Amino acid sequence: MQARLSDSSPARPLSWAAQVHAALMPDYNRPATAYWWAMVTLGAVLLALAAVSAAAWPADVLLQVLLGCGIAMLAGIFPVRVPGSKSSFAAGEIFIFLLLLMHGVPAAMLAAAAEAFTGSARTTKRWTSRIASPAMAAIAIGLVGTAWQAGTSALRLQGWFSEAVLMLSAMLLALLYFVVNTTLITLVITLKRNERLRPRALLDNFGWAGITYAGSALVASLLFLTFQRVGSGVLMAAAPIIAMLLTTLHFYFRQRETDNATQLLRVDVAEREAEQAAQHARALEVSERRFHSAFSHAAIGMALVSIEGQVLQANPALCTLLGQDEAHIVGRRLDAFLHGDDVPVLAQLLLQVITQSAEVPAFELRCHREQGDATWVSMHGALFSERNSSAPCLILQAQDISARRQAESRLNHIAYHDALTGLANRARFGECLARAIERTRRDPAFHFAVMYLDFDRFKLINDTLGHSAGDAFLVTVARRIAHLVRPHDTVGRLGGDEFAILVEQLDSEQSAVTMAERLQESLRLPYAVAGTEVNSSASIGITYSSIGYDTPDEVLRDADIAMYRAKAGGRARHEIFDASLRAQIADQVTLESDLRRAIANDQLTLAYQPIFDLADGRIVGFEALARWMHPQRGAIGPDQFIPIAEESGQIGALTEQVLSRACRQLRDWQSPGGRGAGLRMHVNVSGSDLCRVNFAAIVTKALLHNGLAPSQLTLEITESTLMTHLEQALHTMTRLREIGVGLSVDDFGTGYSSLAYLSTLPITSLKIDRSFVDRLQDGTQNAAIVRAIVTLGASLGKAVIAEGIETSLQMSHLRELGSSFGQGYLLARPLGAVDALAMLDQQLAAAGPSPLALLSGSDRGAVTIH
Ligand code: C2E
Ligand code: CA
Ligand code: CA
Repeated sequence: MQARLSDSSPARPLSWAAQVHAALMPDYNRPATAYWWAMVTLGAVLLALAAVSAAAWPADVLLQVLLGCGIAMLAGIFPVRVPGSKSSFAAGEIFIFLLLLMHGVPAAMLAAAAEAFTGSARTTKRWTSRIASPAMAAIAIGLVGTAWQAGTSALRLQGWFSEAVLMLSAMLLALLYFVVNTTLITLVITLKRNERLRPRALLDNFGWAGITYAGSALVASLLFLTFQRVGSGVLMAAAPIIAMLLTTLHFYFRQRETDNATQLLRVDVAEREAEQAAQHARALEVSERRFHSAFSHAAIGMALVSIEGQVLQANPALCTLLGQDEAHIVGRRLDAFLHGDDVPVLAQLLLQVITQSAEVPAFELRCHREQGDATWVSMHGALFSERNSSAPCLILQAQDISARRQAESRLNHIAYHDALTGLANRARFGECLARAIERTRRDPAFHFAVMYLDFDRFKLINDTLGHSAGDAFLVTVARRIAHLVRPHDTVGRLGGDEFAILVEQLDSEQSAVTMAERLQESLRLPYAVAGTEVNSSASIGITYSSIGYDTPDEVLRDADIAMYRAKAGGRARHEIFDASLRAQIADQVTLESDLRRAIANDQLTLAYQPIFDLADGRIVGFEALARWMHPQRGAIGPDQFIPIAEESGQIGALTEQVLSRACRQLRDWQSPGGRGAGLRMHVNVSGSDLCRVNFAAIVTKALLHNGLAPSQLTLEITESTLMTHLEQALHTMTRLREIGVGLSVDDFGTGYSSLAYLSTLPITSLKIDRSFVDRLQDGTQNAAIVRAIVTLGASLGKAVIAEGIETSLQMSHLRELGSSFGQGYLLARPLGAVDALAMLDQQLAAAGPSPLALLSGSDRGAVTIH
């Protein structure tokens, strides 16, 4: 075996001068190049010398040398590599050494060069190596062979040479040859790398190679000895056999090596495959174990479900969620556990998972529990295939979301229901109404009605009995309404005491009216509130879908208009909306702005209706009544514009204007020499006036401004408004009484106030309502009421004024009943200031002394009007 010169560093193009060098030996530096050339030259010289001496050899020697060279060359081409090792058996060396022993150094040099040439030709493509290798082999064997010949000749001379010495010296020769040859070759590499030669490294590589060389030398010496004894014929016969043997060995070992390699490879692949499979199986097992552990310990419900929807496996959490044993769940269809309405939702979920082969967003559906109650779950699914099963199934996760759903529905309920009564609130009622409107568009046979309810005296209950009593009243109202409507009707509380009912699937308009009547009947029954019995009634406005609505607001607006109409028409009634009502409302809006202008421009005037002492027919005072001459519409009565002023917030300004004008008028009448001395002026005020904190101050200012005594002014307030605003009004009334201003209860007898209650109020007079006076002649009942009022007034120290006296019969009745004062068309209509003054003049002229003297405050025991 031999180390070969081989190097494969990439060639780098150099200048032209060094082109040959660069092409052949690009990696050779200067010393390496010089060494190479030295070796090649020396080798060439030695080989040339050998060739020269060969020329002198006899033919049989030449044949033997050529045969030996040939076998050495063959050995170079087919090295006998020891299987499992990198080393080769040095077969060629046997013939190199044999030729040395038989025919001397030149023959051995030729064989060594021949073997090195074929060997390097096999192992490298570089010509530098292919040239240098034979040269170095020739040099090495030349050097070592010459030394051996010299040594053995000396031994022979001494007579110490024997067959054993031959064999040992041949072995030594072989070892030396190996060392020298290897050193020569290694020197090229160390020079190229600029390294120093390290003999240690050489010796390290020596091991097996040295032994094979020694072995070759031993074989060569044995062959040589045989040749010496038997003759060259044996050798000639043995050489081809040895060559064949070596060649066979070469191929045999190569085959063995290939087989071994293949075998090893096969084993390796099989082992690796087995290992991979085991790893895969282990991983699968771990993942399956993990999956099953996750499946059974998961806090959320999980199930494996077949594509057909059958439960294959269910985890404990799912069993808890459904309130069922695993045995009751597995094998059944999942549908069986669902709320009927949600079965299609599950079908859709399964379909989506299968068709999209991916996770799909969670679906929310209701599951039946064993106990019968329903649980909301959020269900989420994905395709799943198990190792051992070919058919994919679905893995479903179900999370209990009942708590969230409950919270949501609670929030929803709060958002859409009235907290007090539990009825739909305005928002929800509006939504229901919008749906009903939508339905009328789609289905011409569908009709609905909306009722708007408002309760009489709700404010009174609230103000007198407190808010909790008001609440209790509303709850009872809600219960009564809900009891009377049909299940598919919607009852809503729109705010305060306003309720609305959406009556759907109306067969006829009359049926809504019938329902309204039944409601009124029921709502009229007494209410037990805060330990007392309270009476109330509902005013109901009705409108029908046949009017043709687009929005809920329009419907509610019209029902509200109808309700106001019902209220204005005398309460506890129902009114059906018609288009003319809408026109009236539009009209009211115009009137509102007209009135605003009229008040601002001082366009309102006053009429003065005298108040008489019924005993002697003298005028004791005047009631100021507002008048409005509308530029386009002519006279508009206070019954029409006072409510508009109240609703549009203009009543305060109107009252102030009436008050100051009435006071000024009285001042004018009683100016020095005037006829109005000692007269009273009655001014009507509304409930909201008395609720103004500075109202007493406004009144005081008007009196002071006109130099009137407070006792010359009486403020009239109707019984019903007084009752409605009692709490707030009481403070102002007390203050006004302290100042000395008179307070009269107008339209007395119509406002449900108990007579006993009146005694506690700071009032000075009562005005019996016109309706009692009107009916005085036709029954004893009204006469009894008037008598009771008069008696009460007298006993409480209040003056009683009868208003609306139109006939002398009424007049005489009232006189008989003991009413002190009266007012009415019979005595005098409301008059303009001039006419009023004329009437005063007339009276003075006719009667001499003022009748007021009879009613003077100094006349103790007599009742005066305040
Ligand atoms: P009231 O305070 O009860 O006023 C009496 C009403 O009865 C007046 O109607 C008057 O013209 C009318 N009247 C008087 N005698 C008779 C009669 O013998 N028969 C009939 N049928 N009616 C008679 P008017 O002026 O239309 O006033 C109506 C209501 O308007 C008043 O009722 C009063 O409540 C209110 N009002 C009038 N002016 C004012 C005002 O300046 N301020 C406020 N807040 N309300 C006013
Ligand atoms: Ca009045
Ligand atoms: Ca009145």
